[in-house]
Amino acid sequence: MKVTVLGLGLMGTALAKALLRNGHETTVWNRSAGKTVEGAVHARTPAAAVAASDLVVVCLSVYENVQEVLTEASGALAGRTIVNLTNGTPRQARDMAERVTGFGADYLDGGIMAVPPMIGGPEALILYSGSRHAFDAHHGTLEALAAPRFMGEDTGLAALYDLALLSAMYGMFGGYYHAIAMIRTEKITAAEFTPMVSAWLTAMMAGLPLAAQQIDSGDHRTEVSSIANNSAGFPNLINASRDQGVGTELLDPVHRLIDRASAEGHDTDALTRLVDLIQTP
Ligand code: NDP
Repeated sequence: MKVTVLGLGLMGTALAKALLRNGHETTVWNRSAGKTVEGAVHARTPAAAVAASDLVVVCLSVYENVQEVLTEASGALAGRTIVNLTNGTPRQARDMAERVTGFGADYLDGGIMAVPPMIGGPEALILYSGSRHAFDAHHGTLEALAAPRFMGEDTGLAALYDLALLSAMYGMFGGYYHAIAMIRTEKITAAEFTPMVSAWLTAMMAGLPLAAQQIDSGDHRTEVSSIANNSAGFPNLINASRDQGVGTELLDPVHRLIDRASAEGHDTDALTRLVDLIQTP
């Protein structure tokens, strides 16, 4: 299969190498000269790169770059399948689909749930949405990059899932960083403390299926831990952080939401009630 990769950043390079490893005839293009991938054909312009293959994978920094590059290559787009793996919002993905299909190409949007060293390996996942036909036709080739998962024909869905998963990740990292900042004030190292954090987060994650049930059913009653309990206890976290000389900017928004839930009469509910509050800012 002939495949083109537009963008040889950290991720684009990993994608091109994975395609080559799987025996695909790969053409690459990058804005700045000097970035090369052994075994690939290096096109001089985006239009030449797009003309070289039916399947074109795009992986640039932001959507504005994609728009610029595909506009430059617009004359070569008809009949091609564009798979855009650049991170962006659902709205950007839907707008890009309209633009690209307007030039006569098929469009698939993707969200990469992996870092470059994982590409082509068993843990890598890429979420796709948009043209079902494009996904089915190129499934075999896309498997060279990561496990491909189709989220739906609404082009914005892959970006929505991607960003929601990233939001969960940032929440976890934020909590971890704050915890480490607290513990370091007593000269305990991150290495000493991290196994305890991992075990704790793993234990807490076991509660997610029940949380999902409560959120989906709207029944937030609890005999485990109520908004009232958390509203009473959360100031300890804030005060302890302050006493240790640690900032509270990551904790304050959670504190405000819990207090808002309490003020709005949800004292006997579980923390899962916070989802409704987030949805009605
Ligand atoms: P890099 O910064 O390593 O590469 C960025 C790429 O975009 C380069 O090829 C760069 O070209 C190109 N580029 C930037 N501006 C323009 C422009 N105006 N016109 C043309 N090309 C341009 O980023 P990554 O490769 O890491 O990331 C690429 C995409 O993949 C991003 O959307 C990112 O969010 C996503 N992603 C990255 C992950 C990662 O861990 N790295 C994980 C999951 C998704 P040049 O060499 O000329 O600067």
